[in-house]
Amino acid sequence: MSVIVLDSVAKVFPNGVRAVDSVSLTIADGEFMVLVGPSGCGKSTLLRMIAGLEDVTEGDIMLGERVVTDEPARRRNISMVFQNYALYPHMTVRENLGFGMKLRHVPRKELRAKVDEVANIVGLGSLLDRKPSQLSGGQRQRVAIGRAMVRQPDAYLMDEPLSNLDAKLRVAMRAELAKLRERLGVTTVYVTHDQVEAMTLGDRVAVMRDGVLQQVDTPQHLFRQPVNLFVAAFIGSPTINLVDADLADGTAHFAGITLPAHEALPRQGRVVLGIRPTDISLVTEGDMRVGQGTRLNVVVDVVENLGSQQNIFFHLDAPRVVVDAVRSVTDGEETQLLMDDRATWVAVIDDRVTVRPGDAVELEIRLERVHAFDPDSGASLTVPDEPGTGVTNVLSG
Ligand code: ADP
Ligand code: MG
Repeated sequence: MSVIVLDSVAKVFPNGVRAVDSVSLTIADGEFMVLVGPSGCGKSTLLRMIAGLEDVTEGDIMLGERVVTDEPARRRNISMVFQNYALYPHMTVRENLGFGMKLRHVPRKELRAKVDEVANIVGLGSLLDRKPSQLSGGQRQRVAIGRAMVRQPDAYLMDEPLSNLDAKLRVAMRAELAKLRERLGVTTVYVTHDQVEAMTLGDRVAVMRDGVLQQVDTPQHLFRQPVNLFVAAFIGSPTINLVDADLADGTAHFAGITLPAHEALPRQGRVVLGIRPTDISLVTEGDMRVGQGTRLNVVVDVVENLGSQQNIFFHLDAPRVVVDAVRSVTDGEETQLLMDDRATWVAVIDDRVTVRPGDAVELEIRLERVHAFDPDSGASLTVPDEPGTGVTNVLSG
């Protein structure tokens, strides 16, 4: 097992693209670190540099005590799992799993025992004689992961290993990976663009944008204490609600609404306020909570009933916040539900209440959970209530 240290690592491709920019990150022995960020932000490039498949332009990479920056891939005891599985189609599962050992002339008996052991761990015991074409996507992915395990590497590197699976299988495999992770306890760097996958699998999650590390922290801290608008908007689904606001004398003003501002927010100034959809609740009849001054009266535009919860969309009498961070997160990925230049917000509410489009409802905001960001740089202006656990790089949003 191994610590992985990245020290100001950068990658500039021959065409001048700076795909990774001065990334410093220490991945602890046995830690499961997830690299997450939108497509093209440099995740695969960084992973391939750790694997030794890509030259490092600047900085150093250490595995355990060794500097491996200029060592070829075969001299690093690391296993990589790719998105497309890269199985040998003409070989059975058993042959696929044992191929690396066969190349290394591992004795037959030992090879067989190891393959059986790994096949049992990843649940392929009964499928050893099948060819990849006779397996489901999930089973193929298990072969790919099993093949990585056969080597007993110091670390695993996984590049979007679940992204070729359909949604349901992906959730099932995610749970299997989580189990496997506990069982193996081997240092792992796992790349995904899916923030839900990142949040459910990572001991810590490193958020990247345009080659630059934004924040590294536990899933809980990322969600509760994002360092900038980009992280705030990238992490969490539905996306955080935003609005331009003025803070003055302990109150926040926006869209004709005045809310008390909690103590961790700045006293004065122009900010972008952020409120998570789960921090807004519906006030129902007979609700005895006092929540004075924290309520919003709005008209529901759209109701999404997900069975376990409802997302209710409404708009504020304020312009939509167009922040670069938010645009790059949502571009092409989220359907614009309401073609509206006003700020469209969403609240996640209980599934048992009946709410219809057009209903006038009263909502309550959890004031102590309101975030504030610098409208120009995107940096968080909220004083964190607990220090984060990892490095943070505050950059423009
Ligand atoms: P991700 O895995 O986060 O989607 P990549 O690491 O694949 O991102 O790519 C990061 C950036 O580097 C992208 O802009 C991509 O186009 C560019 N890139 C990747 N590989 C090469 C290459 N071989 N030559 C030039 N540019 C590349
Ligand atoms: Mg990639």
